Amino acid sequence: MAEPTVVERDLRPQVSGLGGLEKEVLFQHIRTGQNPVTIYAMADGEKIEIPEHLLASAMQKKDAEGNWMFTQKAEEAPTYVGGTVKCFLHADSPERASGVLDKIGLAGKRCPKSNLASEHSKRIHAATRHSKEQEALQDYLDREEKQEDRDAQRKQLDATLDLARGVSGSAAVEADAAPAEQATTVLNAIEDQLPSCGQCDFIAKSNAGLSAHVRGAHGDVPE
Ligand SMILES: [Zn+2]
Ligand SMILES: [Zn+2]
Repeated sequence: MAEPTVVERDLRPQVSGLGGLEKEVLFQHIRTGQNPVTIYAMADGEKIEIPEHLLASAMQKKDAEGNWMFTQKAEEAPTYVGGTVKCFLHADSPERASGVLDKIGLAGKRCPKSNLASEHSKRIHAATRHSKEQEALQDYLDREEKQEDRDAQRKQLDATLDLARGVSGSAAVEADAAPAEQATTVLNAIEDQLPSCGQCDFIAKSNAGLSAHVRGAHGDVPE
């Protein structure tokens, strides 16, 4: 339980005429924190109204660098310069326009915040106001990035296979062969281009690899 607040102490004389029960109910109501208090974001000086019961925990919040995120004293925070950066849940946000919010089931979530001062303020706003939604978005973006990496690797492999087809004219792949046969032909074509051991059926990935193999497996150096 937080310390009794200024608000509660100030109200005490005004309600002194009430009977004991009503007075207790009113004080409970005040203690449960329905009175907004003003705090300022240390990042950009934005003025934020929060329910009183959240004040204590807001004052304990630190950002990733370990700096206090909020203060109750305006003079401790930078002067707020309103910006034009929209919350990612804003109706006209770039994220909404990209369709990503629909994909992660946040099509119906709206936030009117449109005057964030910077991308940094936007991240802080998202982390404090929409942490679950922000997490869902980040998960999606992470998955998408991994998929793009896999696609890029796939393209690289395809390019290597194309190159192998081109290099080995004699092992031309028949276009109407079954995919499995095509793959085998292509792999054979690639192996034809790779240095192979003259003493066993080892195929190396490079000349250096072959030298290492010959030294290790057959105890001499290839000519
Ligand atoms: Zn928002
Ligand atoms: Zn060998």
